[in-house]
Amino acid sequence: MNNKSILSTKIDLSYDKQHIWHPYTSMTAPIPCYPVESANGCLISLQSGETLIDGMSSWWACLFGYNVKELNEAATDQLSKMSHIMFGGLTHQPAVDLAKTLVEITPKGLDKVFFSDSGSVAVEVAMKMALQYWQSLGKNKTKFIALKKGYHGDTFAAMSVTDPEGSMHALYQDFVAKNFFTKQPNITFDQPWHENAMDDLTQLLKEHHTQIAALILEPIVQGAGGMYFYHPNYLKAARALCDEYGVLLIADEIATGFGRTGKLFACEHANISPDILCLGKAITGGYMSFAATLTTTHVATTISDGKAGVFMHGPTFMGNALACAVANANLKMLLTINWQQFVSTLSDQLQNQLSRCRALPSVNSVRVLGAIGVVELNQAVNMVEIQKQFVDLGVWIRPFGKLIYLMPPYIASEQQINKLCDAIYQVCKTID
Ligand SMILES: *Cc1c(COP(=O)(O)O)cnc(C)c1O
Repeated sequence: MNNKSILSTKIDLSYDKQHIWHPYTSMTAPIPCYPVESANGCLISLQSGETLIDGMSSWWACLFGYNVKELNEAATDQLSKMSHIMFGGLTHQPAVDLAKTLVEITPKGLDKVFFSDSGSVAVEVAMKMALQYWQSLGKNKTKFIALKKGYHGDTFAAMSVTDPEGSMHALYQDFVAKNFFTKQPNITFDQPWHENAMDDLTQLLKEHHTQIAALILEPIVQGAGGMYFYHPNYLKAARALCDEYGVLLIADEIATGFGRTGKLFACEHANISPDILCLGKAITGGYMSFAATLTTTHVATTISDGKAGVFMHGPTFMGNALACAVANANLKMLLTINWQQFVSTLSDQLQNQLSRCRALPSVNSVRVLGAIGVVELNQAVNMVEIQKQFVDLGVWIRPFGKLIYLMPPYIASEQQINKLCDAIYQVCKTID
């Protein structure tokens, strides 16, 4: 096949439909997929010739758009050295550089880094760290507390701390570990604070702390479970309660990390450090799957001093050099551009442009935090229908349930944001 015929090859949609699973959809009656030819900057080019402005950053992952010169160069440079080398007994500079940056930029005290392949695995690793920590101390603490409406991934341990309704525990009920769920924090990011917001968590800890290994939460922004922004004092108080009751705190910043909420890490809204931190999604700027779990010297030392002497996890592609190199280039870009300015400009634009949706009868509420804009409707949307409406309007927005939301790449232009917000307004107007 010469180049030309490769380029002119059409994506075989019917094969895709018959043989390939897509996320959360039926194999026999799947939601339609739009074939993508390429993506550049904030534009997605469909095979049909249409281009769509990206409002999703490929699920929180892509900070600087697609086909980014600096990231392409980092990948090609690394490819000419090695794409991957096993991490057992071997190491490399991209991993060392990435660990250095992560230790430096994350909340203080998080000094030990475990690299893995995806967000869900980073959560599994975090939970195993917590379990091994208590085992090393001779304590039988094997349960977790998680927040209602939280989301931590689709693997089994991650699912066991994800909201039971959202992750449909019932489907796997005899297999999913039973953990404790505390109420969703009831005070939003900018509502006035009152202490009784901690009552439910306090009660759970009081009753069960002897068996609780850790509290796991998404700091400030609950993402896939409902795009909900809660009060920083909740996080601060949760940290204090964990200390009081001898429970570790796991912060899952897989979605919130790297500036999305207006702080480099959402924990900074409350000025706290967790004992264990999960990172993923935007770490490689949306280029490939990669994740990291960070912990304190204390937790790492305790695990290593324990009976096992080692931490029992070691994925094949641990510390993948190609992913580390791209992550390094991505973080270098993030830390050299004035990302605060980009995010705060986006935030103002989302705020200004989405607020008019409030007047529409179909809209329940509108909220914006950092570079995240959410329009919550009164009723769940018809995804197939609404996705087509958005595509017809030249934008890529994928709602779920009652939520239509934007988390555009940081480099999206004012004009692009206007078009994204306008599309939401137009579509919400057609819903009654
Ligand atoms: C997406 C997400 C995960 C899971 O990450 P995957 O890479 O999809 O496995 C875990 N936690 C949070 C908060 C997420 O948003």
